[in-house]
Amino acid sequence: MTTLPPRDDPGIADDTTAPSSRRHHLMPLAKVFVVLVCLSLLVIVFWQNHNVYNIGRQHAKNYAANLTNSLAQQTEATFKQADTILLELVERVETDGTGAANLRRLESLLVQHVKELPKLHGLFIYDASGRWLVNSMRRSTVGVNNADRDYFIYLITHADAKPFIGKPVKSRSTGEWIFTIARRFNHADGRFAGVVLATIRLDYFNQQYNSYRLGPNSAIALDSADGVLLLRRPFDEKQIGMDIRNGPLFREHLPKATSGIFQTNASAIDGQERLISYRQLDSYPLIQVVSLSQKDLMAQWWREAYPHMLVVFVLTLGLGFLGFRMLRQIARRLEAENELQKAQTALQQLNHELERMAMQDGLTGLANRRQFDLALDEEFRRAMRHNQPLALIMLDVDIFKQYNDHYGHPAGDDCLRKISAVVKACQRRAGDLAARYGGEEIALLLPGTDLASAHAIAEQIQQDVRALAIAHATSSNGILTISCGVDALVPMRNKHLPLDLLAGADKALYAAKSAGRDHVVAAPPTAHMPE
Ligand code: GH3
Ligand code: MG
Ligand code: MG
Repeated sequence: MTTLPPRDDPGIADDTTAPSSRRHHLMPLAKVFVVLVCLSLLVIVFWQNHNVYNIGRQHAKNYAANLTNSLAQQTEATFKQADTILLELVERVETDGTGAANLRRLESLLVQHVKELPKLHGLFIYDASGRWLVNSMRRSTVGVNNADRDYFIYLITHADAKPFIGKPVKSRSTGEWIFTIARRFNHADGRFAGVVLATIRLDYFNQQYNSYRLGPNSAIALDSADGVLLLRRPFDEKQIGMDIRNGPLFREHLPKATSGIFQTNASAIDGQERLISYRQLDSYPLIQVVSLSQKDLMAQWWREAYPHMLVVFVLTLGLGFLGFRMLRQIARRLEAENELQKAQTALQQLNHELERMAMQDGLTGLANRRQFDLALDEEFRRAMRHNQPLALIMLDVDIFKQYNDHYGHPAGDDCLRKISAVVKACQRRAGDLAARYGGEEIALLLPGTDLASAHAIAEQIQQDVRALAIAHATSSNGILTISCGVDALVPMRNKHLPLDLLAGADKALYAAKSAGRDHVVAAPPTAHMPE
C-alpha cells in the first residue's frame, strides 16, 4: 500500500517554509548585534581615553606641585644669599660708620661679593638723603640720588629689621632689569642713616624659568605677597607690577593656605582655564606660582589619544560596514532560499495532485481501476501472510442503460456519484477501498472481512441505494436499484490468485442479475475449497 496516496489529503504546504522565515526574523536582532558591537568599541575607547586624560591630569598636578616647591626653594636661596650680604654690610656701616676710609674698604668688599655671585647685579650703599656713598661698580657717586626709589621711601618710614623687596626695575647704572632687596641701617640712636641695596639680575630667574619644558600657554610666576606680579614666564615687561589682588589666588586660596593647587576658569593674567600651584616663601613675602594651561593639557592628551581614536573609529566604521554588508547578503540568500522553498512546495503539491489524479476516478471521486488492482494485489498478499479473510463486493447498477436513455447521460452521471457516496460511506477500516471498477460497476474491497459480514455490508449498501429513492420510470421497481455479488476467501499460497476473488464476486453478481436484479448474492462457501 505504500505507493498509494492518502485517501484524505493532509495539507503539506505550510510547515516547509518555516525555518527560512524563522531565520528572517533573526535579521533585526543581528543588525542590533552589529550596532552594539560597534558602539561598545567606541564606548571602550572613549572610556579608556577619558582615563588616560585623568591620569595625565594627576601627573600634571604632581608635576606642578613639585616644580613650585623646587622653584620656591631656589628663589628663597637666591634672596637669602643677597640678604646675608646685606646684613653683613649693615653691621659694617653701623659699626664702622661711613667715613671715607671705611667706604674705600667697603667698596672692595662689594666688588668682591658681586664677583663671587654672578646672579648678583650690584651692591649699593646710600646715605640718609639717598645719595650714593659707594657701589660695587666703582662708578662715580657724585650727584646721583636714589631717594625716589620705592625701597628708599619704604625704609625711611619702617624701622623694623625686615628687608624690603621691590618690584623689578630697570637699573639706573646698566639698564638691565633687576630685582631689588634693601635694608636700612641706623645711627647708634636708631635714627635712619641710610640704605644698603642688593640688585639681582632678572635674567637669572628668566633663564631658570625657561629651562623647564612647559606648554606654550603655561606659565611660571613670582608674585609679591600683597598681590603684585613681579615676574612671569613668558617674560613681558608690561606685566611687571600688575595688580592681581582680584585674581582667585589672592582672593580665595592664599588666605586659606600658604601653599596649594587649584583649578580656575579665569586666570588673573589672561582669563584662561588653568591649573595653578602656588607656595609662599618661608622667609620673604613672595609667592612662587606654576600655572599649567588647560589648553596645553588637553593638547597633550589629544596628541596621544588622537591616533588611537582614529584607528578605532576607522576600524569601527569598517566593522559596521562589513557587518551590514554581510547581513544584507545573508538576507538575500535567505530570500532566495525562501523562494526556492516556495517553488519546491508548489511542485510537491502539483506532484501530489497528479499522483492523486492518476489513482482516482474523476467522476465519482472513488479509487480508479489502477488503484483498485494495486490494492487487491497488496491486500491479497497481506491476507495470505496473516491468514485472514479478504472480501470483495461487486456492485452493478440495474438496467442503467435505459436510465441513461430515459433521463439523459448527465442524470446518469449524477446517479453514479450518489451511489458512489453510499459505497464510500461503507469504507470503515483503514484497508477498505471503494473503487470504480468500470462503467457503472463499483467494487468494494474489505480486508479482514468474512463472507457473512461482507454480505451484510452489501445488503446495507443495497438498502442505502434504495433509500436514495432515485426515480427510474423504466424499471419495474420504479426506483434505481443495484445488484451485488459478494465473495470472500482466506488466500492460500500456490492455490489462490486475486483473480479468483474477482471471478467469484463477478459470478455472484451474475447470479444476482439472473435472480431478477435488486439482489445480493454471495458466492457459495465451497467456491474456493480444494477439489
Ligand atoms: P443490467 O446491468 O441490469 O444488466 O443492465 P444495464 O443496462 O445496466 O446493462 P449494461 O451493462 O448493458 O449497460 C451499462 C450501461 O451503463 C451502459 C452505459 O449507458 C451506462 N454507463 C456506463 N458508464 C457510464 C457512465 O460513466 N455514465 C453514465 N451516465 N452511464 C454509464
Ligand atoms: Mg448494469
Ligand atoms: Mg454493467
